[in-house]
Amino acid sequence: MSEDAHGTWRPETLAVRAGYDPASASNAAKPPIYMTSTFAYASARQAKDIHEAYFDGTGPEVGRPGHIYTRLGHPGLDMVEQRLAALDGAEAAAVFNSGMATHSAIALAHLRPGDSVVFSRPIYGGTNGLYTMMLPEFGISHAEFTDGCDRASVEATVEAALTKGPLKLIVVESPANPTAAIVDIAMVVGIAEAVGVRTGTRPLVVVDNTLLGPSMQRPIELGADLCMTSLTKYCGGHSDLMAGGVSGREALVAPLRLLRTTLGSHLDPYSAWLLLRSMETVHLRVERAMANALAVAEYLRDHPKVAGITYLGFLAEGTPQRAVYDRQCKAAGSTFSFAVVGGEAEAFRFLDRLRLLRFAVSLGGSETLITHPATTTHYAIRPEERAAGGITDATLRVSIGIEHVDDLIADLAQALEAI
Ligand SMILES: *Cc1c(COP(=O)(O)O)cnc(C)c1O
Repeated sequence: MSEDAHGTWRPETLAVRAGYDPASASNAAKPPIYMTSTFAYASARQAKDIHEAYFDGTGPEVGRPGHIYTRLGHPGLDMVEQRLAALDGAEAAAVFNSGMATHSAIALAHLRPGDSVVFSRPIYGGTNGLYTMMLPEFGISHAEFTDGCDRASVEATVEAALTKGPLKLIVVESPANPTAAIVDIAMVVGIAEAVGVRTGTRPLVVVDNTLLGPSMQRPIELGADLCMTSLTKYCGGHSDLMAGGVSGREALVAPLRLLRTTLGSHLDPYSAWLLLRSMETVHLRVERAMANALAVAEYLRDHPKVAGITYLGFLAEGTPQRAVYDRQCKAAGSTFSFAVVGGEAEAFRFLDRLRLLRFAVSLGGSETLITHPATTTHYAIRPEERAAGGITDATLRVSIGIEHVDDLIADLAQALEAI
C-alpha cells in the first residue's frame, strides 16, 4: 500500500484500504487480530524510546509502530483509527469501547469545575445524562438550544452559558436522535469563533455524527473541531459490537488517546478487527438501507394511521432546515421517526403486532429495528424536555436495514391494522 495514493482515493476505496499495510503482518492480505495484552521490547534502549515517544511525543520511536500494553494502544486500534480518520476526512482519530466512552473522554479532557457547556436538543439519552446529571456534580453548568438553524436562539443560549462560566464545549447532535432535527454546523462554528475573539476562550465545537455516519456527513469539512461517532451504529453495522470514535486535528485527538489510557476505555483487539472489517462495507450497506428507508418513509407518509413523520428527505423546500440539510448532508440516512395516530396505547398495540421489524434500541444495523423513544432510549429524559425535543408518546423511531423493502412494508401494513 502506498500512503501517497490516499490523497486521491475516494471514501469507498479508503473504507476498504486505509489503515492496513500487509507488509506489517507477513503480507497477510487481510489484517490479523493481535490477541495480546502486552508487547515485548526489542531492547532496553528501545523500551525507553517507546515510552518517550508515547508520553512525550519525542525521540526515535515517534511514528513507528511500537506498542507497550494493549490498554495504551495496539495494532488493531491503529488500523481502525487510521481508517476512521480517512473516512471522516480528518487528520487523526481515537477509538474507544463505546460512543459514550468517547463522549465522556471529550468532556473530561476539556471541562473543569466552573466551566459551562452548550448542547443541542433533542440529544441522545446518554449524552443528556452526562451533561445534565453527572457533570453538574463536578461544578459544570449547561445551557441548551432546540432550534439549531436559528442564529439568534443559538447565540442567546451561548450568552446564557457564558453568564454561568467559561464556555468550553458546544456539543451538537445533527441530525438529532430520534427526530432528525438539524443544526447548522458551520453557523455554530462561526458563533464559537466569535466567542473566542470576544472572551479569549474559543469553545470547541463537537458534532455527534452518529445518525448519519461518515458516509453521509463529514462535520470536519464543515469546520467542526471534533467529530464524534458511535461506531456501534452504522460503521459496526451488524448490531454485534460496541465502539465509539472521535476525529479531528492530531493536536486535539492525542490528549484524548492519553486520557483513554487512564480511563481504560480503549477498544479491544477483537472488536477493533470486527469494526475494521465492517467499515469496508459501510457504503454498500448504507446505500441499500437508505433506498429502503425512502420507500418505507413514502409508504408511511401517506398512511391514514400515521400522524406525522420526520424523514430528512421530506424537509420542505424553502425552509432554513432544508437549506442546511442540502448544504450539510450527502443524503437522508435510514433512521427516522414517525408518530402513529393516538398515543402510547396505539403505539404499543402496533409494536406488539410487528413480526419482521425487531423491537430493540440501537440503529444502523443490517436488520430493521424499531423503538418507542419515550419509554426506552429517552426514558430518563424529563417529559417536558422530551416534548421540547419533539418526542411524544406516539413517536416511534425506526432504523431501516438491508432486507427486501417489500417485506418491511408488508409487516408495517399488517401491524398498522392493529391501531
Ligand atoms: C448510540 C448513540 C450514542 C452512544 O453510543 P454507544 O456506542 O451506544 O455508547 C451517542 N450518540 C448517539 C446519537 C447515539 O445514537
